[in-house]
Amino acid sequence: MLDTSIQGPLGGRELSRRDFLKFCSLMAGVLALPRSYAKKFEKALAAPQRTPVVWLEFQDCAGCTEALLRASRPTVAELVLDILSVDYHETIMAASGKRAEEAKKATVEQGGYLLIVEGSIPAAEDGIYCCIGGRTALDILDEAASNALAVIAVGSCATFGGIPKASPNPTGAVSVMDLVTDKPVLNLPGCPYNPVNLTATVVHFLTFGELPAMDDLHRPLFAYGALIHDNCERRGHFNAGEFVEAWGDEGHRKGWCLYKMGCKGPVTYHNCPAVRYNDGTNWPIGSGHGCIGCSEPDFWELGVYNHAELHRFTPPETYAPVYPPEQKIAPASAALMGGLAGLAVGAAGVAAYNALTKPEQEDESGDSPETES
Ligand code: SF4
Repeated sequence: MLDTSIQGPLGGRELSRRDFLKFCSLMAGVLALPRSYAKKFEKALAAPQRTPVVWLEFQDCAGCTEALLRASRPTVAELVLDILSVDYHETIMAASGKRAEEAKKATVEQGGYLLIVEGSIPAAEDGIYCCIGGRTALDILDEAASNALAVIAVGSCATFGGIPKASPNPTGAVSVMDLVTDKPVLNLPGCPYNPVNLTATVVHFLTFGELPAMDDLHRPLFAYGALIHDNCERRGHFNAGEFVEAWGDEGHRKGWCLYKMGCKGPVTYHNCPAVRYNDGTNWPIGSGHGCIGCSEPDFWELGVYNHAELHRFTPPETYAPVYPPEQKIAPASAALMGGLAGLAVGAAGVAAYNALTKPEQEDESGDSPETES
């Protein structure tokens, strides 16, 4: 039973006040802010003026748009469409052709909008590999960014180049932040990104008038401030040295750690364990597949299914693109642990360490490894 309906920008949607307040509390949680901030969000989101949005798509699979549209709860992505005025989005807007282009032109000329970009931008051959309405993506992005309040890149393609940038990168694909250098740019990487994080970013922007704090890759710290490995529901099994050895084995059925199956959780920053996907239904590790590191630059170069590399404790330089430079592991540990950033081989990790290193010790000298704690 619905109670008082929200009016103003949320009018027309049957969203109860209780649901709206729950949404504000959820946003406070995602943004890692005290629940008291929910009041501030409520005030900002109830403002009658809706912030315009221009959403551009370039070299992508439209998976990020799909992720947005598949969110079924009005408290997540649908609400973005209500608190914002999406003036241009090729995939979902009713208008097409000249009318669509005119809508974008009018919004850009007026200014004061958020620009959201999905997909990488081909820069080779003057950008001819991606043309829309007779104009290159390079030209379209340059124009759309010129009057934007801020630019939000969603998905791995827009943030870091994505699969289109994979070697040999025939189109010369680059990311949004490679091209837009005179506006605030925030990255929400992931394949796809998580709509919850876009919603939280927008709520933060509308409430505080600025983008949330970011890391050196322009990722908001509220969503990319911690390693997946440190919040993973299987971490206890990692610490206990209980690993899946083959798909469908006893450990897999029991929900043990997927590190030996190539899980990149130890080198990937994302809040997947907390927010999950599909309205919080599940996430890759929860469904039995290791993390592929899709929120890190060049994740496809890691060999997503090249599990043998991790299995043999490949040296950390293999993982240079995702290895946090400020975190250091002693060479002896690094060679053995293969990029397990942030792992302290303390009491909780001894079983894991033993389980992961034992085969190599036996194969080689049988000596005990030296580690730094
Ligand atoms: S290696 Fe992967 S599955 Fe295992 S605890 Fe870490 S993140 Fe979870």
